[in-house]
Amino acid sequence: MDIVKGNMGWIEVIVGPMFSGKSEELIRRLRRAAIARQRVQIFKPKIDERYAADEIVSHSGLGIPSEVAVKAEDVLAQVQPRTEVIGIDEAQFLGEELVNVCTKLADSGKRVIVAGLDTDYRGRPFEPMPRLLSVAEEITKLLAICVRCGNPAVHTQRLVESEELVVVGAGGMYEARCRRCFEQNIAQAKEPSPFLAPRVRAAGGGSAK
Ligand code: ADP
Ligand code: ZN
Repeated sequence: MDIVKGNMGWIEVIVGPMFSGKSEELIRRLRRAAIARQRVQIFKPKIDERYAADEIVSHSGLGIPSEVAVKAEDVLAQVQPRTEVIGIDEAQFLGEELVNVCTKLADSGKRVIVAGLDTDYRGRPFEPMPRLLSVAEEITKLLAICVRCGNPAVHTQRLVESEELVVVGAGGMYEARCRRCFEQNIAQAKEPSPFLAPRVRAAGGGSAK
């Protein structure tokens, strides 16, 4: 955002697939706000416990302390009146109230920076992020690198069979793929897949890990 007069708030959204650098970019913006001596509060959903409960951590290891929210309304309840900049990571997990909550915060003069997945494991719009894009002042779409061919990757490929929308994890469960290498149907395969081998063995009485 270039020229902002008075204490006007606004909404910035950072989207893209997993591994595209959304958390890194969010952390970069929040660190700069803190260097500018602005009061910053950072939130992430409870569901994302990949690395730490009280910290946002990127896949490259960059971290910043954060508070936990179960749903978007919790962010509104936890924001202090004097806070100037609010960061939210993995926002696609915070529910449909996210759009209203971000709008209220921006209307009250706060800079709201939201990072999240804009599409799900099948490449479909991941609500409420698409609706948030429509009310945002600024949108950044990041791409990852396709692990198959090295092209820019717009998709999050799920490698395990599950039709659940939310299967949290990073290590080996998801990878970045370009539109050519994306295989939409892996996650729906009915036949047992090698990726499920540990669970299948566990059911048969073998060791799970
Ligand atoms: P996001 O929040 O979008 O999932 P992160 O900010 O957590 O992304 O991680 C981005 C970092 O992940 C990159 O800087 C790079 O070090 C690492 N990385 C691992 N795999 C890939 C990939 N396929 N494409 C791009 N970056 C990757
Ligand atoms: Zn590719």
